[in-house]
Amino acid sequence: MAKVSKRTKEILALLDQEYGTEYVCYLHYETPWQLLIATILSAQCTDARVNLVTKDLFQKYDTLEKFAAADQKELEQDIHSTGFYHNKAKNIIACANKLVETYHGELPKTLEELTGLAGVGRKTANVIRGNIFHDPSIVVDTHVKRISKRLGFTKEEDPVKVEFDLMKVLPKDHWILYNIQIISFGRQVCMARNPSCATCFLKKYCSETGRKQT
Ligand code: SF4
Repeated sequence: MAKVSKRTKEILALLDQEYGTEYVCYLHYETPWQLLIATILSAQCTDARVNLVTKDLFQKYDTLEKFAAADQKELEQDIHSTGFYHNKAKNIIACANKLVETYHGELPKTLEELTGLAGVGRKTANVIRGNIFHDPSIVVDTHVKRISKRLGFTKEEDPVKVEFDLMKVLPKDHWILYNIQIISFGRQVCMARNPSCATCFLKKYCSETGRKQT
């Protein structure tokens, strides 16, 4: 990675100051495989909705083996409110089966192995790598994509290209934190519509200040 610029360091210092440097996960889970399932469910769904659904789901299916043996139609009903329930249920069952059969119920560590599981793309794999294994990884969700563009870290739309741009500009010790902090920033300050530009603590670094005043 190239030298981290003064500008990037300043932005990260402000994010650290505002949101702290603790690793927090917005999805509720007790075991690594529960985080994997919660993350699969979080596609096109809010974390709050997923947390509501998994509260009962993880009681009903309290082992990975139970997910592997689940009846697809019944699981579809159980996760219906998270949207895209047909594909999600199919993927969760296939993913649980592979974890049980190939990995003895443990989560694999590498990006290649994780993305080899049904329903697991780079984003989900990076959530697991960061939260479970603390392996530096950048999760590009809707907030990271939108705000990284506004802050001039990328011009890309494609999440994988955004991830690669961010890996070039951010120091490794902030790869996991950046996503955690940007989610808070995206929810509280820099919303997709009507961001609070007037009071934004990053406005001097933003390419959209003024055009987004509320
Ligand atoms: Fe977001 Fe506005 Fe801040 Fe720019 S100035 S980062 S658009 S809230």
